[in-house]
Amino acid sequence: MHIDVNSAFLSWSALKLLKEGSKIDLRNEISVVSGREASRHGIVVAASIPAKKIGIRSPMNLRDAKKIYKDVIVTHQDREFYKECSKNMLRLIKYLFPKYEQYSIDECFVDYTEMKKLYGDEVKFAHKLKNEIYKRFGFTVNVGIGNNKLLAKMASDFEKPNKVHTLYLNEIEEKMWPLPISDLFMAGKSACQKLKGLGIETIGDLAKYDQNKLIGLLKSHGKMLYEYANGIDDSPVENRYDDRKGIGFSKTMEDDIEDKATIYEMLSKFSNQISLELKKRGMYAKTLVVTIRYASFKTYNHQIKFENNTNLEEEIFKYSKQAFNKLWNLEPIRLIGLRVSDLSNNNDIQLSLFDENNKVITEKEIDKLIDDINKEFGSGTVFKGFNNVNQKKKS
Ligand SMILES: [Mg+2]
Repeated sequence: MHIDVNSAFLSWSALKLLKEGSKIDLRNEISVVSGREASRHGIVVAASIPAKKIGIRSPMNLRDAKKIYKDVIVTHQDREFYKECSKNMLRLIKYLFPKYEQYSIDECFVDYTEMKKLYGDEVKFAHKLKNEIYKRFGFTVNVGIGNNKLLAKMASDFEKPNKVHTLYLNEIEEKMWPLPISDLFMAGKSACQKLKGLGIETIGDLAKYDQNKLIGLLKSHGKMLYEYANGIDDSPVENRYDDRKGIGFSKTMEDDIEDKATIYEMLSKFSNQISLELKKRGMYAKTLVVTIRYASFKTYNHQIKFENNTNLEEEIFKYSKQAFNKLWNLEPIRLIGLRVSDLSNNNDIQLSLFDENNKVITEKEIDKLIDDINKEFGSGTVFKGFNNVNQKKKS
């Protein structure tokens, strides 16, 4: 299941105003929430359903929103209150489901597979769950149900608010394929433009298209979109790690970034910093998380476990690129972060594949050599070339 708060920031702001004694419920008005930070001042970060109906969207300039409807009600975002609402909902989810995954401030996945024995029919339970959330906290959610995370997420995005939808594999042809490709999870604006250039208009068109041509056009992103269009997703529902126990770096961009090379450079730099810090502490990490915040303020994480616990820059960089590519929908990025966690002081290299182990040991030796030279002759005397942006150039 995917549980998604309906117009989260707007609903939560509406709730806060009601609690403070306001007579109007922003959810029923043509209303928006605007950004507070200087750089985002005057940008719509959330719009009510009535506002969306007349074409007001985030991220839109407040001035443009007022051109559409001059009496639009504007309120400022309140991150502290949003966090509180988010935590309340998550607490209930954690209580009900051993396997949950917080996906963003207002979205989470739960694995219902084993719970069915206990809670019964998933559709009936989803209705109970959404009603319980409303009764306890005063805001509505959509619950999407599917065979995997992708299908559940697509389902929760169907008609809103306060609804339960299913999207099982045998329903994708009827319920998902007729939708425009822009409705497909991870199909951002620029990918959609390229796909439309191939005559692909609906998710069904994409599902039936030649996968190799899509890979030629959009690389790994094309492969992923093709799989999603066919309802394929094998990623598990995984709890997020404990933030406090890791090492991480992030950067907020001056301008929103759209090109991969710049992001890779940043991930490379973070990998280097993390590797140094791990070595300093004599620790190895088991888990890595990449965080992306988009211009729209939505923040997403993708977590990967290393094959072997590591403190090697090359490994951290390699996995960070994998996680990043799973996460990025090609939209402009406002913040990028990289963090490792599950730290321990053993590197626990498994005797799996001979070649791989040789590679790990070789890289480790190189790292050690570089460290030794830098200790001897001062930091920065030797460093690794940045050779991973373009794999073809790698030798
Ligand atoms: Mg939402």
